[in-house]
Amino acid sequence: MLRAVLLGTGSPPPNPKRRGPATLVSLGAEHFLVDAGSGVGAQLVQAGLRPYDWPRVLVTHHHSDHTIDLGHLVITRWIVGQNAPLEIWGPAGTRRQVEKLLDYLAWDIEVRRAHMHERPPPEVRVTEIEEGKIFEAGGVTVSAFLVEHDPVKPAFGFHFDGGGRRVVVSGDTRPSENLMRWSHHADCLIHECCEMAKTSWYPGCGWPTIEEKIRDLASYHTQPDQIGRVAREARAKKLAITHLMPGSDPAEVKAAAEKGYGGPVLVGEDLMDV
Ligand SMILES: [Zn+2]
Ligand SMILES: [Zn+2]
Repeated sequence: MLRAVLLGTGSPPPNPKRRGPATLVSLGAEHFLVDAGSGVGAQLVQAGLRPYDWPRVLVTHHHSDHTIDLGHLVITRWIVGQNAPLEIWGPAGTRRQVEKLLDYLAWDIEVRRAHMHERPPPEVRVTEIEEGKIFEAGGVTVSAFLVEHDPVKPAFGFHFDGGGRRVVVSGDTRPSENLMRWSHHADCLIHECCEMAKTSWYPGCGWPTIEEKIRDLASYHTQPDQIGRVAREARAKKLAITHLMPGSDPAEVKAAAEKGYGGPVLVGEDLMDV
């Protein structure tokens, strides 16, 4: 059966209880990692994947909370001995971001190679994606669909279909009609809920008041009182909520989601199998 494990259910602020955004989707030995938030390497190990076996990465968008540990994945699987290219699939701009990342890692790669025996540098194979089916592997069809996270454009969610089960990962988005279409009757909808009412505010953060910051950022994420409608209109069979703020109360988020959706609601925790 197609499995999905929430590796990291947090958001940009560091939270010892929740690592950064990352989800592992697997069918047997075929693995797909969606996003590479802070701590993803340790979470993959906890999910049973040692660095040598770290899988292809699907990037929803290039906000730092979703990509901050991409470099860790690239360099560490290479350090332990994996020479096969790491596949990275992501929106337009991914190639440029990966080139810059390899540039940043170049010094480390060269000093390590200096005492290895004829070791090639790490290789990354980037594919920039558009909406639609992107590939099939190990009996799983992977599709990307556009979500609404403006001004981040394009931003994608991913749809996995294999082993008789369909799983959708939203990426970051406000409630999106396109996501609802792509999630129609999904067995599990893994959806973000970045509760901006729980954000912090400091002078100099770029917004003159906390109210303005909340309004601006809430407009490109999904709030607890909106997420139930998304799952209901998608007719998803199960909702798993992720991308939580440190101040979010799981019981409150669950109660808010259940007001709009009659199906089972899981408020994600790291390493939860959904
Ligand atoms: Zn984002
Ligand atoms: Zn995010």
